[in-house]
Amino acid sequence: PPFPISLVGPVQKGFGRGGKDLGCPTANLPDDSITPISSVAKTGVYYGYAQVIPPQESRGDFQTDDLNVLPMVMSLGWNPFYKNKVLTAEIHIMHNFQSDFYGYEMRAIVLGYIRPELDYVSREALIEDIEIDKQVALNCLQRPAYQVYAKDSHFQHQE
Ligand code: ADP
Ligand code: MG
Repeated sequence: PPFPISLVGPVQKGFGRGGKDLGCPTANLPDDSITPISSVAKTGVYYGYAQVIPPQESRGDFQTDDLNVLPMVMSLGWNPFYKNKVLTAEIHIMHNFQSDFYGYEMRAIVLGYIRPELDYVSREALIEDIEIDKQVALNCLQRPAYQVYAKDSHFQHQE
């Protein structure tokens, strides 16, 4: 696929497939916002950068560092809720947020592919793989050539 791929949309409520219990909450983008990736990319796990932009009236719920452009892993997969006919993009941002951010604008730049979707024999195996994905993402984003994307005009920057 032609990376970088830019995505933007309001964070939607998911179907509680256990993101938070797995220690890995995933912020869902609305279906119509993921066309730039769903039309070109295969299902699986991706890495890149994301930023959450609260509306003015909710700005007080966020700390300054919650506004940063942050490393993320994204899962692109067929949504079982829609009988696997609809693709869903879910983003886990590698940052400890002060609060949830449902409805807030999320912006992302997807930079690369990590792996296909896999079937897991256990919850532990899944959690282990998510940990590996995060390490892979952080390592990949070390490349100086990628760091320019954190400063891209797709994101909002202070001053
Ligand atoms: P849902 O099924 O609604 O997507 P999750 O358990 O996956 O529920 O939690 C996702 C929500 O958690 C996000 O929409 C966001 O509001 C919140 N959240 C808190 N921290 C993060 C994070 N680091 N990355 C992604 N979402 C987060
Ligand atoms: Mg989720």
